[in-house]
Amino acid sequence: MAIVVQKYGGTSVGSPSRIEKVAEQIIATKNQGHSVVVVVSAMAGDTNRLVDLASQVDQNPSPRELDMLLAAGEQVSISLLSMALIKRGYSAISLLAHQAGIHTNNRFNKARIKDIDTRRMLIELQQGHVVVVAGFQGMDSEGNVTTLGRGGSDTTAVAIASALHAKECQIFTDVDGVYTTDPRIEASAKKLDHVSFEEMLEMASCGAKVLQPRSVEFAGQNKMPLRVLSSFTDGDSDGTQICYEPEVDRQHPVTAIACQDDEILFSVKSMLPLSELRTRLFAELAEADVEIDMISHQASAQSKDLNFTIARKDLVAAEDICKEFVSVKLISAYHCLKQLSKVSVIGNGMRSHCGVAAGVFATLQQQAIDVFLVSTAEIKLSVLMKQCDARLAISSLTKKFNLND
Ligand code: ADP
Ligand code: ASP
Ligand code: MG
Repeated sequence: MAIVVQKYGGTSVGSPSRIEKVAEQIIATKNQGHSVVVVVSAMAGDTNRLVDLASQVDQNPSPRELDMLLAAGEQVSISLLSMALIKRGYSAISLLAHQAGIHTNNRFNKARIKDIDTRRMLIELQQGHVVVVAGFQGMDSEGNVTTLGRGGSDTTAVAIASALHAKECQIFTDVDGVYTTDPRIEASAKKLDHVSFEEMLEMASCGAKVLQPRSVEFAGQNKMPLRVLSSFTDGDSDGTQICYEPEVDRQHPVTAIACQDDEILFSVKSMLPLSELRTRLFAELAEADVEIDMISHQASAQSKDLNFTIARKDLVAAEDICKEFVSVKLISAYHCLKQLSKVSVIGNGMRSHCGVAAGVFATLQQQAIDVFLVSTAEIKLSVLMKQCDARLAISSLTKKFNLND
């Protein structure tokens, strides 16, 4: 019997009535003759509530204890969903990550799955059970509870699907597929029937939270058939299929636009030669697990400035390091600009079409949107701007590159 892995996100299981609906959907798949493993997120809002609880006790909580707390959300939803299945006469068993054999490294709050021991899941499937696994969590080699970073249930689902050689991994969420841009930000965005793996990886890495970036990486490594679908509509859409085949030449240079809010721009005035400061500062930031995104530098007779962006969650760690560098006179001053957004245009067609940068800058200039930093890669161009300008930028770029319906 072919195995299908289905993942239901927080909104999909956000209330008892939603859980009942999801149970019906799982039963429909089971009745098609599939063995079903279901990965579930915490009920909508629960993980945020737990984060908030932790911050009321300690603004900078112990990472191990934070993971112990956050993992509790998924324990609630797996058991409720299993109850709903059992009530309907279908045998089901809920498993926490350690029971499902999900082994991770020990980087609390952003752990990576190292391997999955599928024995228990296979035994349960052979006995005809629907296996309901807690997403987002794992266990390190010392038996500690770990979590995979926000949105991590997507990665749990793809990793399990790969380990079980499933026929397909279906990510059920609150939109009916992957759109040209977030349909909640830009109502005219168009649903994509297919999106290439490379484009999906760039979209996810640039803030399209419909899939966690690591889940896309995992899917690519294993060429796992991956589909994004809605749990709110009854099978009337095929959703979006992630494709691995090389694409025939694209008509349009841009396929999608993604946006990452809450970016912070650091501007640092160096007292060392810039090359030396770059090496030392970025090494310290890496040591503290701070991820650097965009970078630019200016070296002239008057100034030696280094600019880089980080996510807001890393602000305290990055500031501590900059303060330390000021105190030992490696930098004379630093400044952070908050509430910025990175808007990225993405498309495989950018390999063969030129003029995307010209189109982006002309569009932003027409709207009088200031650009703070720019970065480019083979199939993407990212622009840093004020958060309050991002919506206008997205809607103007959607029109410019014909990404609307
Ligand atoms: P879940 O709780 O099911 O994991 P998420 O909130 O993590 O759901 O992801 C789904 C959300 O992703 C959508 O509601 C949508 O607002 C957002 N999103 C961002 N970019 C896109 C995109 N390009 N296509 C579809 N959804 C997107
Ligand atoms: N519950 C976790 C979160 O809210 C994991 C997930 O939803 O994928 O981030
Ligand atoms: Mg999600």
